[in-house]
Amino acid sequence: MALESTMNLFVKKTGGEIASQLEACTRCGMCAEACPYYLATGKPEYTPIWKVEPLRKAYEQRFTIVGKIKLALGVEKPLTDADLKEWSKADFEACSVCGKCSAVCPMGIEISSLIATARAGITAAGFAPAGLVEKAETQQRTGSPNGAGEKEFADWYAALEAETGIKAPVDVKGADMLVVFTSLEIGSKKKNLYDLARILNAAGIKWTVSLKARDAFNMGSIIGNPKLQKELAGKILSTAKELGVKQLLVTECGHGFTTLRDAVPNVFGEELPFFVTHIAELLPNLIREGKIKVKEGYFANGHTYTFHDSCKIQRQGGIFDEPRYALKLLAGDTFKEMLPNREEALCCGGGGGMRSIPEANENRMAAFKLKLEQVERVGADVVVSTCDNCQLQLKDGFKHYNRPIEVKGLIEMVADSLVR
Ligand code: SF4
Ligand code: SF4
Repeated sequence: MALESTMNLFVKKTGGEIASQLEACTRCGMCAEACPYYLATGKPEYTPIWKVEPLRKAYEQRFTIVGKIKLALGVEKPLTDADLKEWSKADFEACSVCGKCSAVCPMGIEISSLIATARAGITAAGFAPAGLVEKAETQQRTGSPNGAGEKEFADWYAALEAETGIKAPVDVKGADMLVVFTSLEIGSKKKNLYDLARILNAAGIKWTVSLKARDAFNMGSIIGNPKLQKELAGKILSTAKELGVKQLLVTECGHGFTTLRDAVPNVFGEELPFFVTHIAELLPNLIREGKIKVKEGYFANGHTYTFHDSCKIQRQGGIFDEPRYALKLLAGDTFKEMLPNREEALCCGGGGGMRSIPEANENRMAAFKLKLEQVERVGADVVVSTCDNCQLQLKDGFKHYNRPIEVKGLIEMVADSLVR
């Protein structure tokens, strides 16, 4: 039964484009050399191409004569539940869906999207990691993967006024911008909420938060559950429409941002009536356009700064130059680029739900070690990131390897250097 639902999902998806992509693979191996988990462990089962093997098998066995002959002659065995259980380890515990394999493939194969499809099939079959299943169920029930509901968000917004004197505009119709945080972000650093409120007010933006569209995190995208993805994104979409905003600001969540900006128009089959943006582009643009003023060189204070390109916001989101513009302004010559960077940057190891899968800890830290080596090579003692999940992974990793390297977000840097 479980296997059948997976096969159905694979078969449904392995039409047209996906089928031709699978056929174009020359097995050159370049994607393997791009994968942080394969590079860190050397395990052949962690190569990107192996991660889509269940998809290839399902496609070949159902669609091609060669596949059918192989099956009939017993040269290849049909996919079994046990196979899918095994592949769950490679696809969930050794893949952050970082997209670097797709970026390097000379045949233009969207291999990380194929892995996402394989993950959806494995989830439909009931073999997704328990940690992710639990988070997905919690978000379906409460709106947030860690169980923060309307009350928790209302308390955070009340604390903003109590602690800073800034009243949070909640569900304000006619506001220009709907700001969507994640509970993970506010829960781990309330200062982000306080800082962003100060920045947006200083820029004179008419913004609002919502108690209905509370959390940008989307466990449906992470685990590969299209129904949940649509349900969660739909809440944000309908609230933004109801409030009549012109812009939707995703504060730090990387995959939440690309889900809302790139996936949602396709999922709902409509153009969004508002513009989706992220703090990584908004804050530098506010500085550039003179809407806020920062003290230039405020962070040129003896530390060496570097920037971690997040897979979703930078490689997939294309927001490379804006955060660098702000960092050069704030840290001057003390900002150094680690290598590789921009499109070629390596994942920090903690994306794709890896931080919620205890069984993946060893792989997560092994992949992080590659990032650590890059940070140390450039001599940085502060790493800046525009993604809250990356920031948490960087903090976990530096702690794990006992390195006194600080992690900063762009929101706090802009707020701390703001000219009032
Ligand atoms: S880089 Fe592209 S063509 Fe080469 S093995 Fe990977 S998917 Fe196939
Ligand atoms: S998406 Fe990233 S982590 Fe996953 S297989 Fe490709 S390179 Fe590796």
